[in-house]
Amino acid sequence: KKYVYLFHEGNATMNDLLGRKGANLAEMTGLGLPVPPGFTITTSACRRFYEEGKNIHPEIEQEIYWALHTLEETAGKRFGHPSSPLLVSVRSGSSISMPGMMDTILNLGLNDYTVAALAAHKENKRFAYDSYRRFIQMFSSIVLGVDERQFEDELERIKKQAGVEQDSQLSCDHLLDLILIFKEIVFKETGHKFPQDPKQQLITAIGAVFDSWYNQRAMIYRRIQKIPEYIGTAVTIQQMVFGNLGPNSGTGIAFTRHPSTGENELFGEFMFNAQGEDIVAGIRTPQQLTVLQERLPETFEQFKEIAYNLEKHYRDVQDIEFTVEEGKLYILQTRSAKRTAEANIKIAVDMANEGLITREEAIMRVDPASLAPLMQYTIDPNAELNIIGKGLDASSGAATGIIVFDAEEAERQHRTGHSVILVRQETTPEDIHGILASAGVLTTRGGVTSHAAVVARDLGTPSVVGCESFTVDMERRELHTGTVILKEGDVITICGSTGRVILGEVPLVPPKFSKEFCTLLEWTNEYKTLAVYSSVNTPQEAKLARKMGAEGVGLCRTELMFMDPERLPRVTRMILARTSRERKKALQQLIPLQKSDFIGIFRAMEGKQVTIRLIDPPLHEFLPHPTTVALEIERARLAGDEELLAEKEALQQRIEMLHELNPSFGHRGCRIGITYPEIYEVQTRAIAEAALELKAEGMTVYPNIIVPLVSDWREMKAVRETVEETLEQVFSVYRDRIDIPIGAFIELPRACITADKMVEYADFITFGTNDLTQSTYGFSRDDAEGKYLAHYLDHNILPENPFVYLDEEGVGKLIEIAIAKGRKRKPNLPIGVCGEHTSEKHSVLFLQNVGINFISSLPPRVPAARIAAAQAAI
Ligand code: ADP
Ligand code: MG
Ligand code: MG
Repeated sequence: KKYVYLFHEGNATMNDLLGRKGANLAEMTGLGLPVPPGFTITTSACRRFYEEGKNIHPEIEQEIYWALHTLEETAGKRFGHPSSPLLVSVRSGSSISMPGMMDTILNLGLNDYTVAALAAHKENKRFAYDSYRRFIQMFSSIVLGVDERQFEDELERIKKQAGVEQDSQLSCDHLLDLILIFKEIVFKETGHKFPQDPKQQLITAIGAVFDSWYNQRAMIYRRIQKIPEYIGTAVTIQQMVFGNLGPNSGTGIAFTRHPSTGENELFGEFMFNAQGEDIVAGIRTPQQLTVLQERLPETFEQFKEIAYNLEKHYRDVQDIEFTVEEGKLYILQTRSAKRTAEANIKIAVDMANEGLITREEAIMRVDPASLAPLMQYTIDPNAELNIIGKGLDASSGAATGIIVFDAEEAERQHRTGHSVILVRQETTPEDIHGILASAGVLTTRGGVTSHAAVVARDLGTPSVVGCESFTVDMERRELHTGTVILKEGDVITICGSTGRVILGEVPLVPPKFSKEFCTLLEWTNEYKTLAVYSSVNTPQEAKLARKMGAEGVGLCRTELMFMDPERLPRVTRMILARTSRERKKALQQLIPLQKSDFIGIFRAMEGKQVTIRLIDPPLHEFLPHPTTVALEIERARLAGDEELLAEKEALQQRIEMLHELNPSFGHRGCRIGITYPEIYEVQTRAIAEAALELKAEGMTVYPNIIVPLVSDWREMKAVRETVEETLEQVFSVYRDRIDIPIGAFIELPRACITADKMVEYADFITFGTNDLTQSTYGFSRDDAEGKYLAHYLDHNILPENPFVYLDEEGVGKLIEIAIAKGRKRKPNLPIGVCGEHTSEKHSVLFLQNVGINFISSLPPRVPAARIAAAQAAI
């Protein structure tokens, strides 16, 4: 077995073995690009490292020395050589990229002798000493476990002593002092001298990089991104090139297209006289790429050409790390760029239009789950804003919240229900749990490729970075904006699309879709076979759903029409009625109101199917809360209002009577329609009248009625009779008819298993997968998600949250049984699904494969459902 591959022995397909970084370096070497030579130690060496008690096996060590020897030949330099020493970087990289999560060591191979070789040229002295002190600092903190702060404190002290602000202003003597001090710190902390043998440095560094696979931030990142633990990291050893060698050297990061807008233009940042880590760490704010174009036009042109070719080669936007050493260009990394959802869509559509990828590929590249930020509201352009600062637009969307200054406080405030904006000078990978808890991230330093920006984009969290007019005073926990001083807990709004920072809360407006997004959604129609409907409650929502591209209404809940505060008293009267006649009388007053709602929805969905669900929740949900009533009784008693007191006491009695131990399995759904048929009668009448009145106007409407929570076919039979009788009455009054199919809403296992009998009385069936999941598992969702589900997921008792990912094994099986039985009896039975699963891609693929005809999502999820449906069909 081979554990070490030279760059020219590998290629991009060896991702699993070499890690993404190593594989791409190999691929670029094969393409003939200017990549400093090197080799990669495989991920299987990492796994073996752990199997063998964190030891690098001598066999593997020998392979490393062999590769090192070859590298020395290629480079024409020798490890530890006193006049022409080879220096290398030791870089981590797994098969799934985890930017900044593991450690990288630069300038390895430096010691007291080789540093002298580097400093031999007078103009390089500063560079040599600076590299050495950086190396001691990096190596000691990463490999030897010395607290990095000790080095930083000394650096600050020397800077103060010298009266300078920037690291780069320190003189050679200062740097030499620092080297001595740093070495003393190492001796004091470890009891050993700083290791001088480059081979020993190399082997221990490789072990440390393997070890960083299990550092805390990497583990958290993997858990969030669902990256498996076992894959391990590869380690790449590469000859150093120096961006810190003077004014014609530097380091940069570039994207072949803009990572937050998707604009097709080379976009990036560059820093003269600096080493790579300086940009990534966000310690100094870099300049635009144009500075390179101005100072070194030829190098820039060469880079542009390479960037363009890399994008074409990989058929995706690339994020490229590069370094210029005295005018000469080196490519150090390329990978598919992380980008905002918005950019991703634009890039996919543009690339399909450019002919670089197909339309199918463009659709496949947009994860339906990534669309949420595009459905976000943005700052009202007409609002008066108190803008207190402007930074870089790092991750789009607007966020309002209270400011907090560290990750722990962000988590704490988030837990108590606050929307928080994490404000930092710069973020580090240790802040990741705080970023996760925040609605927005604001930093005062760093560029759009800094850690905060990259992570925020990844998570879809709005972010503004590099807001340099601000300073964070950590001691007093204040943010100084130049004009105001804000305390922790004060409210600000950040706009990650424009970089603005605004004092207080601001009015927001609903999202507008980009041209490319509309195009992509149109393309879905060419592929998808599932009809995408929407679940709505009101005419306004129906209009919104249609705008989002809904092809009908799969579920219209009628109870929310009752919740309107103006209507509620009439509803209460209806519920409190003691006889069927009283109840009918109260209901009569509700008919015109419901009818006008139905008319609104039918109009908004002209020519499309509209399925209306008869009332579902237990009636007591419409009654006031018991404590409210108790208070009212108290008040009536004090006021001596006998009449009111009697009324309220009656109400209280009624509430007690209706109280249920377990409302989820309570007196609800068709059980209401069966015990109080007049309620369903009245609703049916309102539906039929609304439909006939619009029909008379010449409008095409397709009304459907669905009966909730049926478990037994006899229930379905009874409700169907009530509904049909009522329909006939309406038809004869109106002297006209309209076809109104009657369906069964399937949310209970028994209904699935007896679907063949059920469809005798149902013209179509729709699965309500939210409730079907609850009733199949016997989980009450609110309790499950609040109490034990997180534990289940953490401990792999369940692979996924079944309320998010449809459980194919259980719930899915019930669905399959119902479909098979239903279609056996009625081969053309229309079958639909409502629920959150309808916009989740794995679930939709399953639903497509089992033969569902339509899915129904909430209006803002309709675009995601359309994309998921198209992907399922491709
Ligand atoms: P990360 O995965 O955190 O990006 P990298 O291995 O890419 O870590 O290293 C970070 C930075 O260090 C790179 O972007 C590059 O600028 C610099 N670097 C790494 N290897 C070399 C090298 N051989 N020569 C010069 N700079 C290097
Ligand atoms: Mg790094
Ligand atoms: Mg990198």
